[in-house]
Amino acid sequence: MIITCPINKQRLWNTLMELGNIGLTSSNKAEGLTRLSLSKEDLAARSYLIKLMEEAGLEVRVDPIGNIFGKLNGSKKTAPVVLSGSHIDTVHQGGMFDGALGVLGAIEAVRTIKEAGINLTHTIEVVSFTDEEGTRFGTGYIGSKAMAGVLEEKIFTLEDDDGITYREAILNAGLDPLSYKEATRKKEEVKAYIEMHIEQGKVLEEHNMSVGIVTDIQGPIWLEVTLIGNPDHAGATPMHMRKDAALAMAEVLLEIETIATTYKGVGTVGKIKVEPGGVNIIPGKVSFSVDLRHVNKELRTEMVNKVFESLDRVSNRRRIHAHIDVKKDVDPASCSKEIVQLLEEVCSELSIPTKKIQCGAGHDSLIMANYTKMGMIFVRSKDGISHNPKEWTDLEDCAVGTQVLFETLVKLAK
Ligand SMILES: [Zn+2]
Repeated sequence: MIITCPINKQRLWNTLMELGNIGLTSSNKAEGLTRLSLSKEDLAARSYLIKLMEEAGLEVRVDPIGNIFGKLNGSKKTAPVVLSGSHIDTVHQGGMFDGALGVLGAIEAVRTIKEAGINLTHTIEVVSFTDEEGTRFGTGYIGSKAMAGVLEEKIFTLEDDDGITYREAILNAGLDPLSYKEATRKKEEVKAYIEMHIEQGKVLEEHNMSVGIVTDIQGPIWLEVTLIGNPDHAGATPMHMRKDAALAMAEVLLEIETIATTYKGVGTVGKIKVEPGGVNIIPGKVSFSVDLRHVNKELRTEMVNKVFESLDRVSNRRRIHAHIDVKKDVDPASCSKEIVQLLEEVCSELSIPTKKIQCGAGHDSLIMANYTKMGMIFVRSKDGISHNPKEWTDLEDCAVGTQVLFETLVKLAK
């Protein structure tokens, strides 16, 4: 590796560890982080981030939806800005690197630029987008959608498991939901968006590489299914007279596995609620989530249709009422060819071995792909584990990814 201006990898690592201490699920670190969007844990992480950006000498701004921007001014104020970042909210019992690496890596890259006294024409803005994960309210990419001008107003009435609406959560964070449209920025204001993220897969590990260059991103579709039967007595109702919603769900779940396998896509049911939830009561109502993904939009549509068919067939036969809500529908996206080429050049100049790679997980980049020139740097994940306390990326890999990000940002902002 030939590096003329090294990033400070220990400083980067320290910030990853510090942020990783905010929102621990319990006193046992092995239970990971639970920093759901706009929760008190997330708000503490946001305060940490703002302080870090200020210490780095960046001009900090929080928009009405809660996106945090840290700005390093370029010499030409009218030139479009180069944007880089990710998110700091997590899933239930998530890890320290998903999202955090992209935000903290961008801060480290910009700090290095500032300390080296590199003169830039374009302003660079580090961004931490609000609610990428969508765990708390059932739909994600809120901050990036608001910035791109594609956020739907109806999200403000969504409720979390405690009945708190999105509107209330935004207000509680000291933000103004009524002004959310002011978070939208004109496309001309932004030159490019670069997101560094852990791979969440095992391809780089298999090839013994620290970094990969993303070419395409799978788009997720999320369904919320409700099946309604009859909550009769478990002792007094013979088997043939039952309308058991949980049994109908069990059949559908196994069919989802078959559908995903057949189409070489992925399908997951990660959230299930059975009601009324009594030992001696037949489940009268179940609701569950379905997450379906594929890099090919047409094949993903076919997968969704098959799930609908399965729900139809099973609920008819079992005399159960089925209701389906589409909670999220994001098209698969491609990275900008120009940025992919630029990332290849940077890796070649630094003599860093890399490869092009497809992305299985959803990211804010999916939204940014329709808004500006978007590129993604992937960093090796240990055993491909993520959304889990065992999520891990070595210091050296974080450093290599951040070095690539630094060089790329300098080239884009020159
Ligand atoms: Zn992420």
